[in-house]
Amino acid sequence: MNHKTMTMGTQKSIALIAHDSMKDDLLEWASENREALAQRTLYATGTTGRLLSTELGIEIHNMQSGPLGGDLQIGAKIAEGKIDVLIFFWDPLEAQPHDPDVKALLRMAVVWNIPAATNRATADFIFSSLFMGQPYRRVVPDYSGHLKRMDGKI
Ligand code: PGA
Repeated sequence: MNHKTMTMGTQKSIALIAHDSMKDDLLEWASENREALAQRTLYATGTTGRLLSTELGIEIHNMQSGPLGGDLQIGAKIAEGKIDVLIFFWDPLEAQPHDPDVKALLRMAVVWNIPAATNRATADFIFSSLFMGQPYRRVVPDYSGHLKRMDGKI
């Protein structure tokens, strides 16, 4: 697979998701980082987003609830290049009915090489990174060769 680079701008857009047992943790972390979050474009799965916007008074683009397709909507936005950072506090101790969606979302974060925090320490490290406030060139898959090959077949 060939690769190319895409530049993330200074203003990162951030997706926030927490499984039910992790919502208090995410709310606490988001309160600590409220100022930084409020300056950025935010996306969230339905219940997480409603909780954060009600409790913190910040504007969030809410997707469908996670188990009803919200995780996949966030994954699609990553593929579209609309989300730069994923903060996803998933529950390591409980099976989720939408586990395939969770896996698909985490896969998109890896495919499109965006910073993805799946616990609080990583979220802290990402938010204290200099790259949060400056452009960053990330390496992403380049499908143009593959698409050219496909063109000849259609
Ligand atoms: P929710 O979804 O924010 O709608 O609870 C989170 C999830 O379970 O993925």
